[in-house]
Amino acid sequence: MNRREIKQLKGIPVSPGVAIGKAFVFLREDSFNIPLRKIKKSEVPLEIARFEDAITRTRAEILGIRKKLSGQIGGEHSDIFNAHLLILEDRTLIEDVIGHIKVQYIAAEHAFSSVIQKYFSAFAQIDDEYLRERVSDIKDVSRRLLHNLHGEKKNVLEHLEEEVILIARDLSPSDTASMDKDKVLAFVTEVGGPTSHTAILGRSMEIPAIVGSDGVAQEIKTGDRVIVDGTHGIVIVNPDKKIIEEYTRYGKRFSAIITELDKLRDLPAETKDGRQIIVASNIEFGDEIPSVLSHGSRGVGLYRTEYLYMNRQDVPTEEEQFKAYQEAAKKIAPHPVIIRTLDLGGDKFLSSLGVPQEMNPFLGWRAIRFCLERVDVFKSQLRAILRASAYGNLKLMYPMISNVQELRAANKILEECREELRKEKKKFDPKMEVGAMIEIPSAAITSDVLAKEADFFSIGSNDLIQYSLAVDRVNEKIAYLYDPTHPAILRLIRQIIENGHAAKRWVGCCGEMASDVAIAIVLVGLGIDEVSISPFVLPKVKKAIRSVNYTQAQAIAQKALTFDTGREVRDYIDAEVRKLGKDLLDM
Ligand code: PEP
Ligand code: MG
Repeated sequence: MNRREIKQLKGIPVSPGVAIGKAFVFLREDSFNIPLRKIKKSEVPLEIARFEDAITRTRAEILGIRKKLSGQIGGEHSDIFNAHLLILEDRTLIEDVIGHIKVQYIAAEHAFSSVIQKYFSAFAQIDDEYLRERVSDIKDVSRRLLHNLHGEKKNVLEHLEEEVILIARDLSPSDTASMDKDKVLAFVTEVGGPTSHTAILGRSMEIPAIVGSDGVAQEIKTGDRVIVDGTHGIVIVNPDKKIIEEYTRYGKRFSAIITELDKLRDLPAETKDGRQIIVASNIEFGDEIPSVLSHGSRGVGLYRTEYLYMNRQDVPTEEEQFKAYQEAAKKIAPHPVIIRTLDLGGDKFLSSLGVPQEMNPFLGWRAIRFCLERVDVFKSQLRAILRASAYGNLKLMYPMISNVQELRAANKILEECREELRKEKKKFDPKMEVGAMIEIPSAAITSDVLAKEADFFSIGSNDLIQYSLAVDRVNEKIAYLYDPTHPAILRLIRQIIENGHAAKRWVGCCGEMASDVAIAIVLVGLGIDEVSISPFVLPKVKKAIRSVNYTQAQAIAQKALTFDTGREVRDYIDAEVRKLGKDLLDM
């Protein structure tokens, strides 16, 4: 057998660590992409029977369609279906699939998809255009057959049969929400920037992840052995023994660092001279709560509620939402949980709400703009949050505030909900803090105005950077321009914190930049009161905060504000952090 070529691919590292395993290439549009499922020898007859039954059902369907069509449009067009029937009667094909099931002990859908793909390649090489085009007939009938074999509802990511390294062009929020997370060791996507929802998901799953890796879904085949180095953004395909050993050692070192950092769990995130910073966690799903607690977080600084709305035909009811928020409030108490109201749009779409496709979804009808119009959807969420506030320390914040009228309008609806609940004699915390996310430049610049009507600010730096620098946060082509150290960003953040503090409001940051240790120190130096990040990277940020004096952090921040370019800021702050602790930048 030929030795497979070792290949190295690069991407944007978004979640650290190393994973070594078998690739599963997920191409959403391609129904022939079936994960391997091994069967027992005793199951072979059953698999063959399933396959034969699927053929019978597919034939019956095609005959039905042909009959219907010949009535409507005449015999000529319905002849296409005769070609489909011929494919289903092809004994060579059928025997080949049965042979695969018998010899390799694999499920019928996998056997069929691997056999049929050989047909596709053979046809693609034929010199005759007419025959070459027949491949679409084979594809059509094959899709129908696969559908009959494993049913429409079967989502491949939900039914992974073994541990895999997931390789995809893109992973939509609904793919990621339905994915069997215990089976995914790491993932690599072609699409996405450092703060795309896909990147955020990697960190929340605590697995190595790389995004923006050009061509990865073409270069890697399902079944290839791959190494994903999420710390440095490297994917190695078909590594040899030596490389595997090297990465196994690195993986062990990485786990040792994590274990070491976890020892800080119960210590406060305070500077050497005693300034306490709240270090909280960002979560997307309720099942991340144990990880919030185990990493020593001081609460949840951002609960992205959009994921409750995904992968369903309807909108979650007030009751369902209430239960989810109540559970978080109870489990995290006495620490706070900040629930962000529905932030749909941008790279997070929900099929159930029928939002039209837009030219510029990040600038479109989304988040608070959507909620202020769909008051029914908004109210049911606000009522659920209010009701859950009776069970712990809940706070609420609105995303995408761009002017004070929006904040007022949202607060007015919130007040209506309070009034309704009072009438219904339902409990809630009347003093629950209500804040605004500052993630649009107009909000940052007018944060003095907003501070009068919000109890706190949480800087959404992922979007603030995107909108200030006009850089789409999910576009890997321009990811090099997405720069948290750009002087404009530092100045805006300084302004938000100063305006918040002048009005005696606390100011947090829940964007990804806060998980960069050097930037976290700058934020501390600028006076930030809270940072909220993925629980996975929380211990290293805590360690960085514990290794600096507040006065020192202030001096670093002040100096960082004097540079002309993001590059200079980056070099300067990294050098300062290296002085504080050599290993701080290693994770
Ligand atoms: C942000 O924009 O920084 C943020 C935290 O929200 P999201 O990433 O969900 O847009
Ligand atoms: Mg945002």
